Amino acid sequence: MAEKSDIEEVLDALNITPPPATSAGLHAVTNALRHVYGKMGVVRGTRGMLKLNQKGGIDCQSCAWPDPEHRTLNEFCENGAKALSDEATRAHIGREFFASHSVAELKQRSDFWLNKQGRLTEPLILREGSTHYEPVTWEDAISLIAGKLKSLASPDEAVFYTSGRTSNEAAFLYQLFVRRFGTNNLPDCSNMCHESTSVALAESIGLGKATIRLEDFEETDLVIVIGQNPGTNAPRMLSSLAAAKKAGAKMIAINPLPEVGLTSFVDPNPQHGNPFSVLGFRPAKLADLHLPVRIGGDMAVLKGLMKALLEREREEPGSVFDREFIESKTLGYDEFIASLDAVSWAEITAGSGLIREQIEKAARMIMRARSFVTCWAMGVTQHTAAVATIQDIVNLHLLRGSIGRPGAGLCPVRGHSNVQGDRTMGIWERMNPVFRENLEREFAFKTPERDGLNTVESIAAMRDGRAKVFFAMGGNFVAASPDTEAVSGALENCDLTVQVITKLNRTALTPGRTSLLLPCLGRSEIDMQASGEQFVSTESTMLNVQMSKGIFEPASEHLRSETWIVCRLAEATLGNDIGIDWRDFSENYDLIRDAIERVVPGFDNYNERIRVPGGFYLPNPPRDGTFPNAAGRALFTAHPLEYIEAPPGRLLMTTIRSHDQFNTTIYGLDDRYRGIDGGRRVVFMNERDIAEHGLEDGQKVDITSYWDDGERHVKGFTIVKYVIPAGCTAAYFPEANPLVPLGSHARRSFTPTSKCIVVSIEKSEEN
Ligand code: SF4
Repeated sequence: MAEKSDIEEVLDALNITPPPATSAGLHAVTNALRHVYGKMGVVRGTRGMLKLNQKGGIDCQSCAWPDPEHRTLNEFCENGAKALSDEATRAHIGREFFASHSVAELKQRSDFWLNKQGRLTEPLILREGSTHYEPVTWEDAISLIAGKLKSLASPDEAVFYTSGRTSNEAAFLYQLFVRRFGTNNLPDCSNMCHESTSVALAESIGLGKATIRLEDFEETDLVIVIGQNPGTNAPRMLSSLAAAKKAGAKMIAINPLPEVGLTSFVDPNPQHGNPFSVLGFRPAKLADLHLPVRIGGDMAVLKGLMKALLEREREEPGSVFDREFIESKTLGYDEFIASLDAVSWAEITAGSGLIREQIEKAARMIMRARSFVTCWAMGVTQHTAAVATIQDIVNLHLLRGSIGRPGAGLCPVRGHSNVQGDRTMGIWERMNPVFRENLEREFAFKTPERDGLNTVESIAAMRDGRAKVFFAMGGNFVAASPDTEAVSGALENCDLTVQVITKLNRTALTPGRTSLLLPCLGRSEIDMQASGEQFVSTESTMLNVQMSKGIFEPASEHLRSETWIVCRLAEATLGNDIGIDWRDFSENYDLIRDAIERVVPGFDNYNERIRVPGGFYLPNPPRDGTFPNAAGRALFTAHPLEYIEAPPGRLLMTTIRSHDQFNTTIYGLDDRYRGIDGGRRVVFMNERDIAEHGLEDGQKVDITSYWDDGERHVKGFTIVKYVIPAGCTAAYFPEANPLVPLGSHARRSFTPTSKCIVVSIEKSEEN
């Protein structure tokens, strides 16, 4: 009997139970240990956990949540443990594996199965017309890439992508090499996640990053969490939320889904106060109010909150708005208030899917809060009007003067461990003028004038043959990007695709005419160079820069560090007579940090300060009450209300992550926080919608999305009856990514609109 494909196995194994009442707790501990001991063994696993997120230890490869000044013994969460064990797994694959598995056969396997195969152990090449990857030497691989780059008609025919795992040191040299080569084509994963935040905040307050630190959670009166599911995507944030609650703060959760990580938390860390808390006797109640907003309704909620504040302010001037702050620190107030007056409550309730009383209740909580913090993530950034929505978050804070003082401020929560650091190091298709000037002075060359291609533009350029080489520093481009069919075709249309990765993934199986896989060191591995053992550094979502040092012997003697790979490629492509000593940089990372100190503002005495346990914070002017944007003041911005209405018979879909997933890395097939066991092709639907569409809970369905350029389809999903607003549905990415076209992205930031897709759900043709 034919071996069942992974998909068939999964569909048969799917088991649905009610979501749990609390998050984390003992189950998080047992799950973390299962992954760590199962993949690393007890001794290596224990060593790894004792070093994870410790000062001078291994900075977690997963999300960008910061580490507290006082580190506990287990300074990691369940998903941090999964990320560590996923990288430090004992499972390895090399030439034998690839000799026995063709690319075509591997393509049939699920992302979970591919990831489970383990670490790549040597460089591999898929030659044009070949069916199997085969080993190649580093020398041959590097010279092949260099030869191809030098043969291009223009440097702009190459695209250099970066995922958020890349260290500061490697990222800085990578952008230097790419710009010295002659292009700004530096798309990165931030383009697909918080680019809307960067654009919005840079304009409104002059800094596209968080303005708070961890300690602000214990000083605030209120935390608003909007468009974010921290229980899965930044789990240690729950400890900060619990600490805020313990200190007397209130919490509002604005999310279509009643995520358990927003409502109840059992802190598994015995050093966070109660050694028996893990047993779940007294779970911490998180959200005091959950607003189940409809998909795409965040802007309407924010305008409703501000309208309620305005109405109260007009009843008693000066009782709600921080007049002194508004007059001394902001611009645009009058125009903004006029735009608020222009929005009616009827529009607000229609757009938000909430009743006025719910919004007014939240507004009263904001009025009672002298200081408040707002946290957000993809649920806000991946919409057409995301930039405007984020600026409404800023508007809300400016009305109350809740920024630039203890317990008050903005907290966009970045999803990848060094995605923010990479941007700070210059990984951006557009150059910051100060960075450009410093880089040109430091390395005595003229940087490319023309802005480069962002992620969406890069895919179009590869599709159209305008870009012929795709080089990726980490990541899983084809799975992370929208419009899977278009991005697959774009990659396959390239002459050469190159990935610097640690494990086999979907992108490796979507090769250009020639494809190279270059296996690099993981963050948990010892990085030995000519001048001795090296360490790297990263930047957390709260601007804390700290070192990360590996402790394990590399998975294979053939692995190379990201920095080594960039330097060898730069030497081979640009030569050594251009005044940049790539070899020195690759042998001693202190030299890289010296150069960063001279080019990137805020990195004074970098080598000295990075060696201080816990590292240092970058300057954060809005945190200190100054706003380094063009106006030199915080800006109120007036935007008309926007929300999407699905035509009759159709629904709004948002894409989400499961609890067994980090970005596109699938650790397992369970989503314990939503009661899903053993499967990923599920679609969460409202009970009434299921009935109104003549469907049944548990039924197999196909999903269709509708765009100007036609329809898109995904098949074989199972309906899961779920608590979600009527008219709204949800499904996991990357499985649902084929439904989002390349052309559907946020205005101004080009972030794909993966959080709001108009779909129809039909009985599966297979039934
Ligand atoms: S919260 Fe994020 S950074 Fe911290 S251990 Fe968990 S996954 Fe890693």
